[in-house]
Amino acid sequence: MGLLSGKNALITGASKGIGRAIALRFAEEGANVAFTYLSSVEQGEALEKELAAKGIKAKGFRSDASDFSAAEQLINDTVSELGSLDILVNNAGITQDNLLMRMTEEMWDKVINVNLKSCFNTVKASTRTLMKQKTGSIINITSVVGVKGNAGQANYAASKAGIIGFTKSVALELGSRGIRSNAVAPGFIETEMTASLDEKVVQSWRDGIPLKRGGDPKDVAALCVFLGSDMSTYITGQVLNVDGGMLT
Ligand code: NAP
Repeated sequence: MGLLSGKNALITGASKGIGRAIALRFAEEGANVAFTYLSSVEQGEALEKELAAKGIKAKGFRSDASDFSAAEQLINDTVSELGSLDILVNNAGITQDNLLMRMTEEMWDKVINVNLKSCFNTVKASTRTLMKQKTGSIINITSVVGVKGNAGQANYAASKAGIIGFTKSVALELGSRGIRSNAVAPGFIETEMTASLDEKVVQSWRDGIPLKRGGDPKDVAALCVFLGSDMSTYITGQVLNVDGGMLT
């Protein structure tokens, strides 16, 4: 019996990186998994097969996280496919970095809409279902950058800080209905994306982290399993860092 057996989960942005690791780990823990992707269609379709091979119900949806009505459709489709929704992981996210002087209005709007508005979209669309069930765990993926700020990432940092305020407000509003809402703040997590960066630069980042390594997407997935499981039923409204001690 896995820690999530019998639970139904939806993870946004699972075609790669952290979202993909969460989807795979959830399936290994016995959850049925619905997930989304947008541009990485091949990876999305491959993941659906990989998840189904683990003996759980798996369904991938091509759905733009920043689109309000698409989120309503997504939640309806997920509930009709899986039967209910117990764990919602808002993971889809992007960066469009530049110094404020060179940041355009489009760069600001795009990052806020994909990273922050997306959380509102799915939570709003699933509130009725979760309230009827009187149970549910919402997990929003923020970032240490949302806590600390970062030069060159004003749009991203604002979106991730917004997620923290949103997460805590949802915890306050929906706690009496048995719904929990927590944020996970990864530090530097090594994915395919970071593999293409200059090795010297990456090593200097690793050296600055108390645990002396970058995180693995599996480190983030493990915390999400805990927050989605019945091991965390008295934990809500929190921001939990997975950062090797970076913010210490
Ligand atoms: P990633 O490898 O670039 O993956 C991002 C995922 O989000 C992809 O599956 C992508 O799908 C999806 N996505 C992007 N825009 C979308 C949209 N509009 N609608 C639906 N899906 C969309 O990034 P990652 O490093 O795994 O990051 C995952 C989350 O962790 C993000 O929220 C990020 O901000 C956060 N985070 C990451 C780090 C890190 O060090 N990596 C640190 C702190 C926080 P498609 O490719 O199919 O479009």
